[in-house]
Amino acid sequence: MKKKINMQLVVIAVLSILATLVLTGAAFYKLFYKQVFEDLKVYSVILEKEALLGDWEKEGSVSDDVLRITLIGQEGNVIYDNTAEIATMENHKERTEIARAMEKGEGKAVRESATLGKSTFYYARLLEDGNVLRVAKEAKSLWSVFGNAVPLISLIVATLLISCLIMAHLLTESLIAPVEQMAKNLDAIDEIETYEELQPFVAMIKKQHEDIVKSVKVRQEFTANVTHELKTPLTSISGYAELIETGMASDADVVKFAKGIHKNSNRLLSLINDIIRLSELDSSSGELVFEKINLYTLAQTCVDMLQFNADKHNVSLHLMGQESYVSGDKQMLEEVLYNLCENAIRYNNENGSVIVTVLPEGEKTLLIVEDTGIGIPKESQERVFERFYRVDKSRSKSTGGTGLGLAIVKHITIKHGAEIQVESEVGKGTKITVTFN
Ligand code: ATP
Ligand code: MG
Repeated sequence: MKKKINMQLVVIAVLSILATLVLTGAAFYKLFYKQVFEDLKVYSVILEKEALLGDWEKEGSVSDDVLRITLIGQEGNVIYDNTAEIATMENHKERTEIARAMEKGEGKAVRESATLGKSTFYYARLLEDGNVLRVAKEAKSLWSVFGNAVPLISLIVATLLISCLIMAHLLTESLIAPVEQMAKNLDAIDEIETYEELQPFVAMIKKQHEDIVKSVKVRQEFTANVTHELKTPLTSISGYAELIETGMASDADVVKFAKGIHKNSNRLLSLINDIIRLSELDSSSGELVFEKINLYTLAQTCVDMLQFNADKHNVSLHLMGQESYVSGDKQMLEEVLYNLCENAIRYNNENGSVIVTVLPEGEKTLLIVEDTGIGIPKESQERVFERFYRVDKSRSKSTGGTGLGLAIVKHITIKHGAEIQVESEVGKGTKITVTFN
C-alpha cells in the first residue's frame, strides 16, 4: 500500500510538473509572439511618422541590421528594401502579410528563416498613399527558446522532482503511520488516532483481538484446572495404595482404602469423560446432522434411568407435559437431560422433589427442570456454566461433581440454537428452562 500511495503521489507530481512546464511555455511564447508584433507595429508607425518615407530610395537611410524594412507598391512590386537588391525581388502581392494589409490595412506572418532555429516575423501596414510598409524582424523560434532554456528547465525540474519524491515519501509515511502503529500495538488500539474511515476495521480488529486474548486465557485456565482436578483424585489413589502396600493397614482398613481408591478412580473417569466430551464439542466445527426427536420420550427414558438414583437420595422425580418435537442430536439432548436431572437430584434436600416438564409453546419447545433443592446464589447463576465452576466446592466434590456438567449443557444448547435460563432462590430451589426454537 505504501509503495502504491508513494508511486501515485510521484506520478501526480511528475504530471503536474510537466503540465506546468508546457502551459507556462506556451503562455510565455504567446506573450513573446505578441510582443514582437507589437514592437514591429511601433517601428512601422515611427518610420511613417518620422517622415522617412520620402527618403526611401536614399541608400542606407535606414540601415538597421536587426530590422528589415520593405516598401511595396500597390501592384506588389518592391519599391524599397534596406537589406536586399530590389531588382532581384519578386512580386510580393501574394505574400500573406501583404495581401492581408492590402485588404484589411494590417497583416502579420511568421516564416521559418534560412537560419536554423529562427523565425522571421513580418508586420505589414497599408499606408495612406496605397503602398504597403513591411517591417520584419528575426527572432528565435519556440523550439530554440526552449532549447536554450533546457539546462535551466532541467535543473528546475530535477529540483522539483527531488523535493516531490521527498515530500511523497514523508506524506506516505505520515499517512500510513497510524495503521502501522495499530498493527504494532493491538492492545492500545483505542489510544491511537486513526482515520474515521478505518473505525469499523479498528472496532472489528479490536473485538477479534479481545476474543483471541479471552479464548487464550480461558484455554490456559482450563488447562490449569484440568491438571489440578486430575491431580487431586490421583494423589488420593496413590496414598491409599501406598498404605496398603506397606502392609500397615488392617483388613478392615484395606476394604476402606479400596473403597477410597474405587471412588476416586470413578471420579477420575467421569472427569476424563467430561473433558473429552467438551473437547469433542469444541472441535466439531458446525456440520451436525440433526434429526426430529420427541423430547418427551427422551425425557421419559432419562427419568426412568435416574429413578433409582433419586430414590437413593430420597428425592421424588416426575415427568410432566406432553409430546413435543425438536430438531437435534439425540445423544447430545440425552446429555442435557441427564446433566440437568442429575444436578436437580444431587443439589436437592432430603424428601425434595424434581419435576421435569416438556411442552410445546407455539413453534418452540420448552424443557423445564425444577427442583426444591438448595438453590444457587444470585452471583453464581451466570457462572455455573463456566468450566469447573462449583458453587460449594466441598459439597460438590463430596457428591462427585466436577463442575463440567453445565458447561457441556451450555455448549450443546448453543449448538442447537436453544436458550438456557436459570431461576433460583437459595433454600427454595432451582428452575432451569431450555427453550428450543
Ligand atoms: P458434574 O455435573 O460435572 O458432575 P457439577 O454438578 O458440580 O459436576 P455442574 O453441573 O456444571 O457441575 O454444576 C455447576 C455447579 O452449579 C454445581 O457445582 C452446583 O454448585 C451448582 N448447581 C448446578 N445445578 C444446581 C441445582 N439444581 N441446584 C443447586 N445448585 C446447582
Ligand atoms: Mg452436574
